[in-house]
Amino acid sequence: MHDAYDSRAIAALRPPKNRLNPFVPYHFLHEREPGLQGGMETVNTIFLTSKECAFKCLMCDLWKNTLDEPVPAGAIVRQIDHALERLPDADVIKLYNNGNFFDAKAISPRDYPAIGKRLSAYKRVIVENHPKLCTQLCAAFSDMVDGKLEIAMGLETIHPEALSKLNKQITPEDFKKATAFLKQHGIDVRAFVLLSPPYIRGDDENIAWALKTIQFAFDSGAVRCAVIPVRPGNGVMELLRENNDYTPPSLAMLETVFEKALLMQRGQVLADTWDIGFLSQCPHCFDERKKRLETMNLSQRMEDSISCTCKIK
Ligand code: SF4
Ligand SMILES: [Zn+2]
Repeated sequence: MHDAYDSRAIAALRPPKNRLNPFVPYHFLHEREPGLQGGMETVNTIFLTSKECAFKCLMCDLWKNTLDEPVPAGAIVRQIDHALERLPDADVIKLYNNGNFFDAKAISPRDYPAIGKRLSAYKRVIVENHPKLCTQLCAAFSDMVDGKLEIAMGLETIHPEALSKLNKQITPEDFKKATAFLKQHGIDVRAFVLLSPPYIRGDDENIAWALKTIQFAFDSGAVRCAVIPVRPGNGVMELLRENNDYTPPSLAMLETVFEKALLMQRGQVLADTWDIGFLSQCPHCFDERKKRLETMNLSQRMEDSISCTCKIK
């Protein structure tokens, strides 16, 4: 077993980034999510092009679509305009910048008023942030948007060894404190929870720790948890896999975690179904099982499981 990888080692193993235009968001889409009070909400999600996150988490591949330098003044606002001109109306808007919205080098606080103005039609605004960057800037931005602010934060895992080796530089207590601070300011919290991070061994152990982490997020005051299966592809994950420090999760594991977390009835649970082809080896049942997860994301209810000769593995 390899000792922990530090930021330098993690960065040195990375393949090249994608080339991006600082005036254009690298992606945007229209989707649906369940509302917190029931019902369905339409969501415009804009993936902003911004400076790479200052943290270098072991499992992260978000840096692939980031810039090395801060964007020029006003560029983020231009990106939002670019996307909004092409997207339909929606109830909710997500501004995800593959890093931390409240990192002033990624999104300048000078842009907050202009950003807030453009979001006035939305009843909820969702951004992502690191627990250690939950400062007064969050409260200031919350005051500038008409809708309710929701901040998505990676709790990742509460497994002590795995969390410390993820290089996220937080403890579960940091997440709890950040959530309490945001709640005090009327801001909702969504937690990202990893399924099968490096350094947790065995399917059952990984399922159990994902569920414990979800429980902790809800106990801390999160209103929803998104479960993210950890994927290979960022350089260091390949090495971890070779050394048996990381095994990709299976679709069955994601299904189990999702089902058990829904049964907790503590808050909303969402299974991340983006690009989850790597979770399954069976071409017969994958599409149907993915569709079932998407249906359950929207309904927040159990659906009949899909049977297949692959014996659901
Ligand atoms: S804080 Fe988020 S964006 Fe930054 S390296 Fe970690 S996972 Fe990636
Ligand atoms: Zn199958």
